[in-house]
This record gives sequence, C-alpha cells and structure tokens, in this order.
Amino acid sequence: MKKYLRFRWILLTMAALAIIGLTGMNVYSLYALHESTISAAADRQKAQLSDFSFTTRSRFRAPVAGIWKLNMEQLHDEFDQRLPLNTSLADVLFDATEDPLFGTVYFAYPDFDNCSTQGAIQRFDPTTRKLTTAGDVPDFICDGLGLTRTRMKVLLQDYRWSTKVVFDTHRTMTVALINPRGTEIVGYLTFEINNDYLINDYLSNQLVEAFGTGDQSGMSVWLHDWLKNEVLATNTPNVPYQRRKVQYIQRFPDLLDNWNLKVVFDESPAVIASKANLTRNLLVMGGALTLLLGSLTLMLILAQKERSLLERQAGFLANVTHELKTPLAMMQAAGENLADGRVTNPDRLKTYGKHIHTESLRLRHMIEKLLDVARNDAGQHIIKPKPYSLGVLVQNYMNEHQPLIKSSGFDPVIVIPDNLPLVMVDKDSFETILGNLVEDAMKYSIDEKYLAVRLIHDSQSISLQVEDHGLGIPKKSMKYIFDKFYRAEDTLTARTKGHGLGLSIVKSLVELSGATITVESTYRKGSVFSVTFPIHVASSKKQPQMVNPKAKIEYAS
Ligand code: ADP
Repeated sequence: MKKYLRFRWILLTMAALAIIGLTGMNVYSLYALHESTISAAADRQKAQLSDFSFTTRSRFRAPVAGIWKLNMEQLHDEFDQRLPLNTSLADVLFDATEDPLFGTVYFAYPDFDNCSTQGAIQRFDPTTRKLTTAGDVPDFICDGLGLTRTRMKVLLQDYRWSTKVVFDTHRTMTVALINPRGTEIVGYLTFEINNDYLINDYLSNQLVEAFGTGDQSGMSVWLHDWLKNEVLATNTPNVPYQRRKVQYIQRFPDLLDNWNLKVVFDESPAVIASKANLTRNLLVMGGALTLLLGSLTLMLILAQKERSLLERQAGFLANVTHELKTPLAMMQAAGENLADGRVTNPDRLKTYGKHIHTESLRLRHMIEKLLDVARNDAGQHIIKPKPYSLGVLVQNYMNEHQPLIKSSGFDPVIVIPDNLPLVMVDKDSFETILGNLVEDAMKYSIDEKYLAVRLIHDSQSISLQVEDHGLGIPKKSMKYIFDKFYRAEDTLTARTKGHGLGLSIVKSLVELSGATITVESTYRKGSVFSVTFPIHVASSKKQPQMVNPKAKIEYAS
C-alpha cells in the first residue's frame, strides 16, 4: 500500500511538472506571437515611412521628366550659339513656374565660373517665356549652382544620363543638362524651392494623409530640421515632440538634407488587439493553471491524509488486538482457576469474580466502541429522538458513574438549572456523548483532578459543558481531534490509553442529533467541550427536522 502511495506521489508530481511545463511553453509562444505582431506592425510602419520619403522626392519630378524628353544635342548647339530659348524647354520651365513648389528658375551656361560675372546667370521670365540676364542673383542660387558644378566635375567622366538632379538641402533643385554622347555639360537649370508651400501646404497635408492622426496610424511623425532643432510639421499637433522618445528616424533620399522624419511608434490597432488577446489568453491560462494545480494539491493533501489514516488504522489494529487480548487472558486465567476448584477461600473467590466482572466490563466497553465506529461508518446509527430533560439524563449518568469517577480521584461539579425545557434527543446517543467527554476529561487530567458537568440554557438552546483542568490540547492538534484515530502527538497524551475514536463518535452523534460541538482548550491548563442542542417546540403534531438523511429517526409517539 505504501509503495502504491509513493507511486501516486510520483505521478502527481510528474503531472504538476507537466502542467507547469506546458503552461510555460504556451506562455512563451503567446509572447513570441505578440512580439512578432509588434515587429510586423513596426516593419509595416517603417515601410510606410520609406514610401513617404520617396513620394516626397517624386513631387519634384515634373520639370525633370519634361527635360528628359528634350534633345540634348540640339540644346547644346543652341546654347553654344546663344540662340533664344527653345520653345519645348520654355514650356517645361513655364510649367515649373506655375507649380507653387517652385519659385524663380535660373539658367547658367556650362562655362559659368562665378555668379558675379556679368551675364553668367540667366533668369527665366514666365511672361515672355525667355531667358534674361539676371542682375542680382541670390546667394543660395549660386550655392546650388556651385554645388552641382562641383559634383559634375567628379561624375561627368562616366555619366551616361542626360540629367543629374542635385538638391541643395531644401533651398534649390539644380538640374545639370548633359549631352550623353559628348559627355559634356549643356547647361544648369536651378529651381528655387518654395519652402513655405513645401512645409505648410504640401508636407503638412501629406503627413496627415499618409499617417492619419496618431490613433489611426499608430505613430507620431514630426518633420524636423535637425540643424536648427525645429519641428516644421507633424501629423499629431497635440503630441509634443520629445527628442529622447524618438524611436526611428527616416531621411529623405538625396534631398532635404537638413530635414528628416522623427517617429514615435504608438500602439497600432493590430498591436492593441494582440495585447488584449495576450492578456485574455494569459488570464484564461492562469485560471486553468490555478484550477489544475489546485486540484492536484488537493489530491496530494487527500493522499497524504489517506496515508496518515492508514498508518493510524494500522497502529490502532495492533493496539486493539493487544487490549482485547489482555482482559481475555486475565478472564481466562481467573476462570481456569475457578473451574479447577482450586480456589475455595470466599475472599479470593470474590476477588476472582470482581476481576472477571471488571475485565468483562472493559471488554464490553471496547467492543461497544468498535461497534459504534462500525455503525457510524456504515451510516447505521439509529436515532430515536424523544423529549427528554437533559438535567435528568445528566444526573442519572453522573449518579450511575459516581463510584468510578470518585474512585479515580474526582469530585465532580454538577450544575443543572431548574425548569429546563425538554429537548428532543436520543437517550443512548446523549449518554454516549456525555460518557466519552467525561471519560476524556478524566483521562487527560493527570495533576489537577477537576471535572465539571454543566447545563447552560438560553431561549434557543441548551448546552452541555464538560470541563477539566487537565492537559489541554496543543493548538496545532485542535483541528484534528475529531478525526478518526487521531491522537495528539504529545508525550503527555502518549501516557494515556486510547485509540482516537471517542471524539469522532461524539462528533458524528452530535451531527446526527442536530446539535453542534465546540471546544475551548488551553495547553496544560484544561479544556471545555460544549455540545449545544436546539430546543424544538415539543408538539405531538410537529415532528423535529431530520438532520442527517443517513440517520434513521424514530419519533416519540
Ligand atoms: P482517545 O482519547 O482514545 O485518544 P478521543 O477521540 O477521545 O480519543 O480523543 C482524541 C484526542 O483528543 C486525544 O488523543 C487527546 O489528544 C485529545 N483530547 C480529547 N479530549 C481531551 C481532553 N479533555 N483534554 C486533553 N486532550 C483531549
């Protein structure tokens, strides 16, 4: 049996480990899923940002696309001979000046060297659609031209395209016109960029259009001039820009060098949904885990209880065999002597008779207790409640057992108030309850032999109190004393004989009688057991309620 119990322990522990392992794995995969949702959402958002920067660049494309279609060789010849502006190019430039993104358009011949050289820089006049000599050229135009010329010096040798676009930050876009055959510069066109339109009209609207407000896109995007540390536009005007919170930076490809997009990823709807899902799953899993581990723990506790019950039962059997054998052996010896006729002395005859009597009483007592337990286990207690005066029952019991009690050194205090109402009890059960409590009180009083039996009464109930000033019950044993075969693990208790059955019988009889039992005990000071019986209004028509359906109840006629 022990082996089997140990095996059960191992199985239960393995089950607990398996449950914990499975839950751990599940939690891990739930988190991994959530993380991948987050990173997929972030990847989507980054792709969106990259798209945005390319779309911004393509906003500048219109004039460049127009220039591509022109014949560079022809343009080269015309510029070489300083002929008036070709109409196709004039159309392209006119369209550009109509576009709010661009301001004035300037032209420089390939050999321009210095902005201040008279006639080196031409300005496109949209009214006449002609190039005119620009007198006063703004510095940033010269910067754009200079930048492009320097860049082309490096590139030109291997360049195979007819245009090269060079942005000078957000100020100008310069298109170098190249004759790919001769690998020579045809001229430079510089478009002034209208910053006011670019920021306040175009990019501001585009940001909102592309990313919505923060809630919709799951990110706050600021167009930021890092050189001046200045926010130019944003899709979430109500969210203040905080540098340390920026999670991602998107640059523009080859243009707007001083500007970039600073981004804070908020939780996108997909991430919020995944988070809610994760929380819900974790809660359900936590609940299931608690339930499973709870039931496993319960099973372990029950297994443990069963085991200790089995151990106690085994101890009980050994004990009981011994206790049954002792009186039997004594009776056998006394009986033998008497049967032999060897004992003739009347005094000795009397002593033998007494011996046999007391031993048979002890035996009967033990057998009755065992039968009580057996009946109790089988649910076969027969309860015959009749209206009794508990005062009379207590008095009768105490009178009957007075000699034994006195001979054990006790002078019992008996308190029975006058005019107690009748209570519906089963006489035998009441006597068993009282008998066991008094027996225990005497058994567990070693030094001070004090025994009090009282009846206390209020309008609802009558309580039977049995008090002693004996060993008392250790605190940790209190909740077990009504368990079958339980005996307090205490050296003092160990010195008394018993099997841990009395109180378990008392408890079940108390329950069958519809009463309740409580105990107050202080270790080494004494104990008070109280059994409270409800007062039923005794009426021949009204039957008392059945308390335990297992018990058969017979009513007084
Ligand atoms: P037994 O007396 O045969 O051991 P019981 O069921 O009557 O069995 O009591 C169970 C345990 O409760 C006892 O072993 C003892 O430890 C404790 N107990 C019961 N009554 C008293 C008491 N009056 N004083 C101290 N301990 C008690």
